[in-house]
Amino acid sequence: MSVDSIYFSPEAAAFRARTRRFLHEHVVPHLDTWETERRIPRAVWKLLAGEGLLGLHYPEEYGGRGLPFFHSVAYLEELGRLGSGGFRGAVSVHSYMATTYLHLVGDPAQKQRFLRPAVAGDRIAALAITEPEAGSDVSGIGCAARTVGDGFAVDGTKAFVTNGMTADYLVTAVRTADGPAQATGSGTLSLLVIDAEAPGVTRTPVEKLGWHCSDTATVRFEDVRVAGDRLLGRKNAAFMTIMKAFQLERVAAALLALGEADRALELARRYTSRRRAFGKPLAAHQVVRHRLAELMSHTEAARQLTYHAAWLHSRGRTAMSESAMAKLRATELAADAAGQCLQLFGGHGYLAEAPVARLFRDTRLDTIAGGASEIMREVIADTEL
Ligand SMILES: Cc1cc2nc3c(=O)[nH]c(=O)nc-3n(C[C@H](O)[C@H](O)[C@H](O)COP(=O)(O)OP(=O)(O)OC[C@H]3O[C@@H](n4cnc5c(N)ncnc54)[C@H](O)[C@@H]3O)c2cc1C
Repeated sequence: MSVDSIYFSPEAAAFRARTRRFLHEHVVPHLDTWETERRIPRAVWKLLAGEGLLGLHYPEEYGGRGLPFFHSVAYLEELGRLGSGGFRGAVSVHSYMATTYLHLVGDPAQKQRFLRPAVAGDRIAALAITEPEAGSDVSGIGCAARTVGDGFAVDGTKAFVTNGMTADYLVTAVRTADGPAQATGSGTLSLLVIDAEAPGVTRTPVEKLGWHCSDTATVRFEDVRVAGDRLLGRKNAAFMTIMKAFQLERVAAALLALGEADRALELARRYTSRRRAFGKPLAAHQVVRHRLAELMSHTEAARQLTYHAAWLHSRGRTAMSESAMAKLRATELAADAAGQCLQLFGGHGYLAEAPVARLFRDTRLDTIAGGASEIMREVIADTEL
């Protein structure tokens, strides 16, 4: 469906084709099993790393491939097109969300210690920002890191941690205020890399509506001792880092959602061309044709908006508003497309194992996670009005 684009070099286009083949050979045949087993085998991470897919945009000195950002754009869309929110969630959180903080503010030693093994698929990363009482409002984070000697003692709970059960370390947002006067607000947040197996860490899996092959955990910290060399960036300066990282997170979320919208449309086109009703294929009924045409045009519009945000990001530009617009449009579209395409399958779309049913379940999260639609509207309004 996609037309030639000003954004993709011939190398990026060839990379997309190669990556699509790789994912279809090594991932797609196993997705149903992983969904049922509620897990992604550890070996898969090494397989992806072998293709360089866990570090496309990271520097070669840390094992990455140092490729232009539009290679990542192609990869993220292809991940979305697999039609498994769980798989794309696990992998994209690792490569484009959790490890982003190491790349942005980690020192060279921290990058060698944590980023390199993540790119190599030897260690799985998770990002622990959300808490039971603080989600959209990052400034409400309460997880406390007291100064103890050269390091910290961490107490608190993190919610909805993707890869929470399998991760080797968690990039964790904490409050580093030692006095009660500083216990709230955005000026006392810091980022720590915490070992998932450290004494005092308890991880509990949570069941979800969708994203079944991705493990999600509630993580409890009780007097967890963290050495001072695991502080990422400056103490009390994490709020701005988190806001900066959100730009990439939102562009990535939009690209993944576009891939999912493509997948929903692909499934619906295939089904409606062979399913017959009232003497002709469903796709020959004008109302069905128009519905698909409408969804395709919305997808293409959201895609161009998202490519523009990705292009700004690739140029190192601040694009808070554009990335929020892209995230808003693309994720609302993906959820809508999955619902409308399910309708075209009739009862067959409602069966638990139907690929379009999985898309319907999984895309429901797109407008919530990584900044809900309401928050995207706030960001746009704050920037533009
Ligand atoms: C499967 C899954 C995986 C996740 N993975 C991660 C992860 O890896 N790491 C991580 O840190 N988090 C993760 N999250 C958390 C996710 O990012 C949050 O759920 C999301 O940011 C929303 O926060 P909340 O759930 O606390 O909702 P709340 O912030 O409590 O919001 C509830 C509702 O109120 C709305 N709302 C909030 N503020 C306003 C406002 N000012 N105006 C209007 N409406 C408002 C919200 O949009 C939402 O609709 C995950 C969540 C899920 C379900």
